[in-house]
Amino acid sequence: MTKADTVRRVLRRLAGMPASDGAGVRLSRIIGRPGLPDLDPFLLLDEFRSDSAADYIAGFPDHPHRGFETVTYMLAGRMRHGDNQGNVGLLRPGSVQWMTAGRGIIHSEMPEQEDGLLHGFQLWINLPAADKMIAPRYQDIEPEAIPVVDAGDGVTVKVIAGRVGDVVGAVDARRTEPLYLDIHLPPRRIFVQPTEAGHNAAVYVYEGDARVGTGATADTVRRGEIAVLGPGERIEVAADMIPARLLVIAGRPLGEPIARHGPFVMNTMAEIRQAVEDYTSGRF
Ligand code: MN
Repeated sequence: MTKADTVRRVLRRLAGMPASDGAGVRLSRIIGRPGLPDLDPFLLLDEFRSDSAADYIAGFPDHPHRGFETVTYMLAGRMRHGDNQGNVGLLRPGSVQWMTAGRGIIHSEMPEQEDGLLHGFQLWINLPAADKMIAPRYQDIEPEAIPVVDAGDGVTVKVIAGRVGDVVGAVDARRTEPLYLDIHLPPRRIFVQPTEAGHNAAVYVYEGDARVGTGATADTVRRGEIAVLGPGERIEVAADMIPARLLVIAGRPLGEPIARHGPFVMNTMAEIRQAVEDYTSGRF
């Protein structure tokens, strides 16, 4: 095969959809909305970015989760996390909280600031049926603990999960073998990342514009857009005339039925009913 045959092409480009969640946090919903309800194993991707406190101050008061993992990645601002098992933590700029909800937690995620920019992402990753009821687990990753790969020519890659060359990401997350990278590209620089051929993959651009794909088959993806990629062995991204910042996500599709009700994601409606019953009767 030629190189072009194995570089993933853009199948679809979608702009994030304005949404409100929690107690009224304004955000952009990128995955988990009409048009892109999921990208197996990813169930949701939100970007929150505002310097207006009214957009975020209400936060995400106590709410449950069961059946999947939530990954919060902060770029600016601080969030205070607490759950019903006594776990507390402060998410500061550059940090990652990888929460495996498993059989269930009740937690809150509240901004710890009354002004200034709050910017970050929350990604939901499904758990295989066999692991949906495991004990909850947190991996709180400090900014200094996330490896940064210098890929040359000013290209830097933060390896949140997965592997770039010999550099292994900060998070232990083997169930869906997720790749989660934050890539900074100076103008006209290219970065190429190998991926498992059978994994689903996408690129989300949060600063500048990017070219995704290779040569004449590449597509321009603008700030605030996600590009869903076709199959292939490599992801190729490039900045155009201005610097670009983007997230790359990829993971092993589970291929299992998804039954979804708000913060519960199981395989069957009976399991959803059980989750609601367990939650309302205080068994979380
Ligand atoms: Mn939550």
